[in-house]
Amino acid sequence: MPTKKDEDKRLYKPRNAWEQADAEQRARVRGLAERYLAFISACKTERETVAYVQDRLAQAGYGDDASGDRVLRPFRGKALFAIRRGAKSLAEGVNIIAVHGDAPRLDLKQRPLVEEACIAQGKTHYYGGIRKYQWLARPLAIHGTVVRQDGTVVRLCIGEEPGDPVFCIADLLPHLAKKQGSTPLNDVFEGEKLNIVMAHSPAVKEEKAQDAGTPPAEGTSEAGKDEAKDEAKDEGEGKPRIREHVVALLEERYGIVEEDLVTAEIQVVPAGPARFVGLDGALVGGYGQDDRICVFLALEALCAVENPDAPCALMLWDKEEIGSDGATGASSRFLRYCMEEVAAAWEPAVSPGRMFLESRAVSADVQAALDPDFGEVHEKNNAALLGYGPCFSKFTGSGGKYGASEADAEYFAAIRGLLNARGIPWQAAECGKVDQGGGGTVALFLAAYGMRVIDLGPAVLSMHSPFELASCVDLWWTLEAYRAFYEACR
Ligand code: MN
Ligand code: MN
Repeated sequence: MPTKKDEDKRLYKPRNAWEQADAEQRARVRGLAERYLAFISACKTERETVAYVQDRLAQAGYGDDASGDRVLRPFRGKALFAIRRGAKSLAEGVNIIAVHGDAPRLDLKQRPLVEEACIAQGKTHYYGGIRKYQWLARPLAIHGTVVRQDGTVVRLCIGEEPGDPVFCIADLLPHLAKKQGSTPLNDVFEGEKLNIVMAHSPAVKEEKAQDAGTPPAEGTSEAGKDEAKDEAKDEGEGKPRIREHVVALLEERYGIVEEDLVTAEIQVVPAGPARFVGLDGALVGGYGQDDRICVFLALEALCAVENPDAPCALMLWDKEEIGSDGATGASSRFLRYCMEEVAAAWEPAVSPGRMFLESRAVSADVQAALDPDFGEVHEKNNAALLGYGPCFSKFTGSGGKYGASEADAEYFAAIRGLLNARGIPWQAAECGKVDQGGGGTVALFLAAYGMRVIDLGPAVLSMHSPFELASCVDLWWTLEAYRAFYEACR
């Protein structure tokens, strides 16, 4: 007869990491969560994220010299590669954790400024998968990189300090939303209506400025007359020159002219810091946790690694949310060039192809947490739970596993063994029910090199919303899992 203990061994049961956390462990978890909170409150764009990681690694001794033991390669301010030597040769492969630093947001259009109904607005073009309604009627901040014609750079960050003004998109009042209520959700919120409030007051009138403008054209045809009339109305008494006021303020405060906006990257993100959520403060709520939670934890893991067996690398990519294209996205050759450069400097005899084929990777990205209010989209036996430790995704994609790489049984089992050996709780999940939807990560771009790769990251609730939720205890164990991977995967 099998004993109770034997039976326990035969059954697979994911563990709630909070159950094992005593008061001391909870204090350590809280300490890590507080540092994480500061990080996601400060890093709201891929550029800010790369700058943070770059600083931290520079302090940890990573530098330019490709022949050094710790090499750092930032790229266009939006991607970054870092690697440190291990005891073993590159010929036996590198342990790589790959993350992405971009998150869904609204970008200002190239000619954003319009004026209507006594409001100057900034028109936007959304980036990545958003539910448009979530961006209405909430405080927003502007983070941007503006490059003047002479090449000088202005970094904008407006709406984060307590004294800053914020921006917002006005929503329709319920009294006038009757027709909206019977329109399908995907049609009712239009991309072209995601316009942020930029200003309301007209520029202060200067006496001579009144005549300085181009006079209305003399109408010669009927159409011309109408135009002239319109312009006359625009130039007329009480004309609220609000759009012009925005331009004037931009020049006065930031030294930029309207044409600078055309070439700029200006991102609109939720304003304000991340917060602890719930009476117990056991969740972190904040913007951009997909995938900056993994950026933070992979970086912490890399900095914590001592005497690794294999060389350890961190790959931080941009553009994941829109398909990983572009020079700084995962489908570019950046990773390859960096690895080849390091191989040439460290061990010129090693074939780069072999180094790639022997490498092991973790695609560190978040998994959708089982939603207490929308359980019907998940298959509960294969859904991720908040608080159950980092979550493996053997594959991503949609439908019949389309658009995914899949980790092989050997590799998955080996990493699972590493985590078990260190007592790290873990779980495995798919993103929702079969045929419910799906998504992708950067895993397939790593798999394209022939290296072994699996997705591993914390569960996130309300993913892609302006206020995503993650469990504090998952931060702790995901960091431990990444460290175990760096230190012991071979
Ligand atoms: Mn992601
Ligand atoms: Mn995402």
